[in-house]
Amino acid sequence: MEAPVIFNIQKFSIHDGPGVRTTVFFKGCPLQCKWCHNPEGMKYEIEPIQTKDGKEEIVGKHYTVFELVKELAKDQIFYEQSGGGVTLSGGEVMTQDMDYIVELLQTLKRKGISVVIDTSGVAPFKNFERVLPYVDRFLYDLKFIHSTLHKDYTGAPNELVLDNLKKLSKAGAVISLRLIQVDGVNNSKLAVKQTIRWLQDNHIHIDEVNLLPYHEFGSDKYARLGKPCQIFSKPSDETLEKTKLQWKMHHYTVTVGG
Ligand code: SF4
Repeated sequence: MEAPVIFNIQKFSIHDGPGVRTTVFFKGCPLQCKWCHNPEGMKYEIEPIQTKDGKEEIVGKHYTVFELVKELAKDQIFYEQSGGGVTLSGGEVMTQDMDYIVELLQTLKRKGISVVIDTSGVAPFKNFERVLPYVDRFLYDLKFIHSTLHKDYTGAPNELVLDNLKKLSKAGAVISLRLIQVDGVNNSKLAVKQTIRWLQDNHIHIDEVNLLPYHEFGSDKYARLGKPCQIFSKPSDETLEKTKLQWKMHHYTVTVGG
């Protein structure tokens, strides 16, 4: 079993699930979202990046399960006091070596540490089936309800994303639906209406909806990785409020932010 590459371990995170959490960012993602604010997480391999002062540093490090759990357990007291835990994110955690991920989850569970998985949904469902017994909540990203737009902006269609969401809901998973809000791209009233209708038609149970406004943080990393960067617009507070209201009218619990 090869240890995956991790490019960041973020402590005291409060936007990646309930309570105080440590978020682990696995390197490698099957998508190429045009607004991704972690472009250093797209490639699966360790790679160089230029620092802000022009030097070169290496992004990513292999961690064994033992090394990672040791690091994550250091803040267990904070997880217990706040109802938090560990969030596995990326990149895409569900496309990593699943023997490793299952062993990691089992070890964290044995220690009594709660685990949340943040996913784009682009992975075989058999991978989700393997982690289901150990995951307390999925932060499930849905970028577009329309497959063509999903492909245009992320590089892949959304059929697998929607299919996995149906199956996870049916399996009884607790799901926070995470909706990136890119102004003029995926936040029209019609898009929200069609998303809600699709959820209802498919009897999908969503515990809460998180509206995540697009931001430009991380755009400097594109140049430092030698990649082109596209800048989008953040929705205004008024637009976000309208979107929130549209979800609330259909009795969803909705927050702006994670
Ligand atoms: S799914 Fe997430 S990590 Fe992957 S490219 Fe899109 S925004 Fe980046």
